[in-house]
Amino acid sequence: MECQDYSLNRNTERNNLNLNPLQRGGVLPPESRQALYEFSDGYSICDYCAGRLDEIPKPSIHNFLSDLASFINVDHARTVHGAREGKFAVMHALCRPGDTVVMDGNAHYTSHLAGERNDLNIVEVPSSAEPEYRIDPIVYQEVLENLYDRGEEVSLVLLTHVDGDYGNLTDARAVGKISHDMGIPFLLNCAYSMGRMPIDAKKWNVDFVVGSGHKSMAASGPIGVLGVQEEWADLILKKSDKHRVKELEMLGCTSRGAPIATLMASFPYLIERVNNWDVELQKTLYFVSEMEKISGVKQVGVRPKEHDLVRFETPFFHRIADKHPRKGFYLYEELKKRKIVGIKRGQTQWFKCSVYGFSQEQVHYIAHSFTEIASKFREMAD
Ligand SMILES: *Cc1c(COP(=O)(O)O)cnc(C)c1O
Repeated sequence: MECQDYSLNRNTERNNLNLNPLQRGGVLPPESRQALYEFSDGYSICDYCAGRLDEIPKPSIHNFLSDLASFINVDHARTVHGAREGKFAVMHALCRPGDTVVMDGNAHYTSHLAGERNDLNIVEVPSSAEPEYRIDPIVYQEVLENLYDRGEEVSLVLLTHVDGDYGNLTDARAVGKISHDMGIPFLLNCAYSMGRMPIDAKKWNVDFVVGSGHKSMAASGPIGVLGVQEEWADLILKKSDKHRVKELEMLGCTSRGAPIATLMASFPYLIERVNNWDVELQKTLYFVSEMEKISGVKQVGVRPKEHDLVRFETPFFHRIADKHPRKGFYLYEELKKRKIVGIKRGQTQWFKCSVYGFSQEQVHYIAHSFTEIASKFREMAD
């Protein structure tokens, strides 16, 4: 057979400033691009494997996992294929079909799917109303106490540390304390935080934590991190009966090549950037304040921002779309002319974006470009 042309390049995204929050934290530093090349062959991580991926001495996956565990303050760390696989593994090992898991109303769809695939009953802790959509630990407590009063047992409490809709940072420590006081294990989903900001699982009463390499840890992925405290290690990392050395929930081995090589190569860079989280946050706060100078532009979610993912409501840009000959596409096209991408084509009523990892000059340029577009079409918004 013959194939069609797959056109495997993404020059547009690589040569422009990309504001897509999903992609900001997954950009590789140069040393990781080199690792990607070195480990591009299939099973390339397995040259010196004696049967256990997590114990491979060269490259030193064994030492890497122990450093990774210290980085997030857990007793055991494993790589998985993504945050979702980590959540699935925890639920699968810990819960039985029909069990109840409690999670926040801003939970990622993959938390729902992990629960559904394990036949779990999901109870949601609602967020506050618009425009904050805040997840309040007190509401967790109310929901859990309510379930307790009704005699319903809860097997697991899950919290989204930073959600992907509003970029709200939640009080993990408080929710962890509430869970522990009720004797329920606590899983923290750090897909949008691990690798961006410091994570302290023990301090926050976290039993299980997951992160996403391709989302926030400068890895090509797909790769995730699963952290487990000692108390749960025998359960979550239990061995196969038939293949005594293999860890069952990991299906023996997880990441088997370039994904883990890039995560390892990026690790020193991650340690450094996590320490500079306040600098990133300052850039985000500056960006929000500049954007809100544009008529009717409003940051939604908790204020002031505690994370780089920002959701804006932009009715002004939407009114322009009504009259503009290019309709909703004008915004994407005007941004693209200025070498900015990452806002979905056709979207003008609201959008999510992030300036994570850009220089202060680039952030200024991006904010200025939005201002310029707003004033260029000002009369269309009337
Ligand atoms: C992106 C995201 C995920 C999914 O991460 P994967 O590593 O791709 O599984 C899960 N949860 C949240 C909150 C996310 O933002």
